[in-house]
Amino acid sequence: MAVPQNKVTRSRRNMRRSHDALVADNPAECPNCGELKRPHHVCGACGHYADREVVAQADEVDLDEDAA
Ligand SMILES: [Zn+2]
Repeated sequence: MAVPQNKVTRSRRNMRRSHDALVADNPAECPNCGELKRPHHVCGACGHYADREVVAQADEVDLDEDAA
């Protein structure tokens, strides 16, 4: 089993962990529906990106072929 060659002091351990904090994301408002979305990502609420629809919404797609 690998054994640490030197003790990691509280100071050194805590200095390493100073970079471990999670950074809060910076949500932006969707220009189409106003929902908060991640910057540079497709809106999860309306499927729009850059003022056009790139992902069809589930309620708009008719999956049942026999009903038509
Ligand atoms: Zn949207």
